[in-house]
Amino acid sequence: MSPKNPLSLLLAFSVIASIPLCAQTSSSKELAVHAGRMIDVGSGEVMKDAYIVIAGDRIKSIGASAPAGDSVIDMSKYTIVPGLIDCHAHILSDPTTQTPGHYLMTSAPQATVRGVANLQIWLAHGFTAVRDAGEEYPSYPQFALRDGVAKGLITGPRIVAAGSFVSVTGGHGDGDILSPDKPSLEQPNTADTVDDVNRVVRRDIKYGADWIKLMATGGVMDPISDYRVQELSDAQMARAVEVAHRAGRKVMAHAEGTVGIKAAVRAGVDSIEHGTMLDDEGAQMMAERGTWLVPTLYCFQHDLETGLSKGRDPRSMAKGIAIVKEQGPAFQRALKYHLKIAYGVDDADVDESVSKEFGALVRGGMTPLQALQAATINGATLLSLDKDMGTIEPGKYADLVAVPGDPLADITVMEHVAWVMKGGVVVKPLVQ
Ligand SMILES: [Zn+2]
Repeated sequence: MSPKNPLSLLLAFSVIASIPLCAQTSSSKELAVHAGRMIDVGSGEVMKDAYIVIAGDRIKSIGASAPAGDSVIDMSKYTIVPGLIDCHAHILSDPTTQTPGHYLMTSAPQATVRGVANLQIWLAHGFTAVRDAGEEYPSYPQFALRDGVAKGLITGPRIVAAGSFVSVTGGHGDGDILSPDKPSLEQPNTADTVDDVNRVVRRDIKYGADWIKLMATGGVMDPISDYRVQELSDAQMARAVEVAHRAGRKVMAHAEGTVGIKAAVRAGVDSIEHGTMLDDEGAQMMAERGTWLVPTLYCFQHDLETGLSKGRDPRSMAKGIAIVKEQGPAFQRALKYHLKIAYGVDDADVDESVSKEFGALVRGGMTPLQALQAATINGATLLSLDKDMGTIEPGKYADLVAVPGDPLADITVMEHVAWVMKGGVVVKPLVQ
């Protein structure tokens, strides 16, 4: 049905005139993207001059020639990859500060507005989905943002969200850094017993958590905890996993120190976050159980570069300097044991750094294709979004990203995203 033929145009008009309005709207949305190169992230194969046909918010077909009648978006000078997925985001983070008292001086509405702005950063860098890896606010602004995006009230990547940081008192997720003679903060996320964990996990689920976030060990960015030690007990983590899985939710564990990583894996968590001091035994356990790793390499490196300039606490800085030496060997072990790895940013600096984990993964030992898979097909699988996302295939969301050059030869081109489509809608137009 070529529009160049007047008779077929007339026929097309009469067909359109006889179909209901809603069907007209979706058929009128059909268009094609002409990709100079299109990467199949599953196989690593590259298709030249691919035409990706889109109907509504989904990919309809992929062909080698322009479909008649569809309007074509010309991306012939670019490589098209699937929409990217960041599996370790903190969408309420303020990129301008790392002061330990920041949370205490920021209201949930202020953090929510910051979140709306942050979501545009991820989108502009090609991320069409993020997993929020937990937040400090007891009122869960991340769920409001997730639902706002899903309803089309605000623009942003699709959001899968963890709830609070389930943490022991004085642990990595204890946001109350005030001295003992000051009034205590209300902290519904702290859990010092197995029953406490039960309550905190159920509270997260009650208010809408897709994931449960456990603080298995201390961390780096806070001034008080010790990243080398296990915090939540084996029994606490086992209970969290039991309660979450029974409710159909998955569990992610912040785990830096060796002992805490293994305890979290043994408890049955679905993903280990950071895994900065992963040893051979831990890697072996993760391989046997199919536990995911989200290594967040770049954030540790970048936080050293920014130093104390954003008001970071010197105690936190000292921890950052000490732990960064561990990440290279640990990541090598993860690769040696062929762990399932997904891309995660975890940076309070959610600006240019959202794309720089690609380079860190390749410097750490991954091939460019593996790094691309971590941010697409692997992330989609970890988040149970693989029926809808992760590859460019008919039936999946039309989430497409254009980059100049060839990311399989030079992964840093992923830092120069030129054009982004989410669900068939261009959310970042090409600037010529
Ligand atoms: Zn994090």
